[in-house]
Amino acid sequence: MSADSARRVEVYPGREVVVEFDPDLTFECVEECTWCCHHGVLLYDRDLLELAQRATLAETTTDFRGEKFVTREEKSRDDHVGEDGHACAFLRDDGLCTLHLEEDWKPTRCSVFPLGVWLDEGDLHVDIRESAHDHCDGLDVSDRRVIDNLEAFLPELLWELENPDSDRVL
Ligand code: SF4
Ligand code: SF4
Repeated sequence: MSADSARRVEVYPGREVVVEFDPDLTFECVEECTWCCHHGVLLYDRDLLELAQRATLAETTTDFRGEKFVTREEKSRDDHVGEDGHACAFLRDDGLCTLHLEEDWKPTRCSVFPLGVWLDEGDLHVDIRESAHDHCDGLDVSDRRVIDNLEAFLPELLWELENPDSDRVL
């Protein structure tokens, strides 16, 4: 999408985002697909505090390039895993997220996917992640326009971060 077609949307009072994807794009997560849970998820500081109340950090998080991520672990199953047989420590055998299911909570980055965010000259920008175009089964399969539901993808915390850039993976 060109800069001309980007548009500003107020997601929370006084919290705007510059939308860089097609406003007609729709999304609905597809149950059988767990692709975005095959990777280690970056944890912002506040996520880490929240996670500490729900899990043992020493067992479920790892350090990478000075940042904290949810650990990927080897699974004893063939589905809901990446090519190397690993997936997020919280991804259950049935493809559901333990945190989401039992704690009604998940890390910020899990809400953001399949979107990607970054800061540019003080503005928060949002687009579809490059990898999502190739792997996310939920794009354009429903009537739910992403642009009308941005608060479901973008926790308000993102506007308070020095570096919300989602282009950091384990
Ligand atoms: S924490 Fe849950 S939603 Fe996030 S990647 Fe892991 S299994 Fe998926
Ligand atoms: S890759 Fe897309 S469709 Fe698949 S689980 Fe993640 S958000 Fe849902």
